[in-house]
Amino acid sequence: MSDNWIALVPDDPRFVPDAAKQNRARERFAEIAPEADEIEIKVSEKVVFFDCGGNFERLGCPFCGVEIPVEWWQERMGEDHDDGFKLAAYTMPCCGKKSTLNELVYEWPQAFGRFAIDAMNPNIGKLDDKFKREFEDILGTKLRVVYQHI
Ligand SMILES: [Zn+2]
Repeated sequence: MSDNWIALVPDDPRFVPDAAKQNRARERFAEIAPEADEIEIKVSEKVVFFDCGGNFERLGCPFCGVEIPVEWWQERMGEDHDDGFKLAAYTMPCCGKKSTLNELVYEWPQAFGRFAIDAMNPNIGKLDDKFKREFEDILGTKLRVVYQHI
């Protein structure tokens, strides 16, 4: 057995919507994915990582598009994590430009944040773009959609 989640994470990793907006988003997610096992709101003091699990394929540089070695990324993840992720700017191994871990191009998408709302086994396939925009309106922030497969 495997499980799937659709997680919505603000583009700004430090953004946390107020409780009324969180509840509104939870209600709407339950309408959009009525078969979901659970709709969960996650709020943390520190910036945490929302990974895509088994959907991870590769990561790339946001400037030049070159694939970044996973070993380099794992070292930066260890370096960056100190009582939550600092999201410091690191020099890319390819082109020498600077990027935080949150700005790297992950396939599939992954995100860092203090807030997420996720649906477990939503059974709706990909989240329709119109719903993503609706959640962005409800929560007052641009969102990343993370599909986690475990
Ligand atoms: Zn580069």
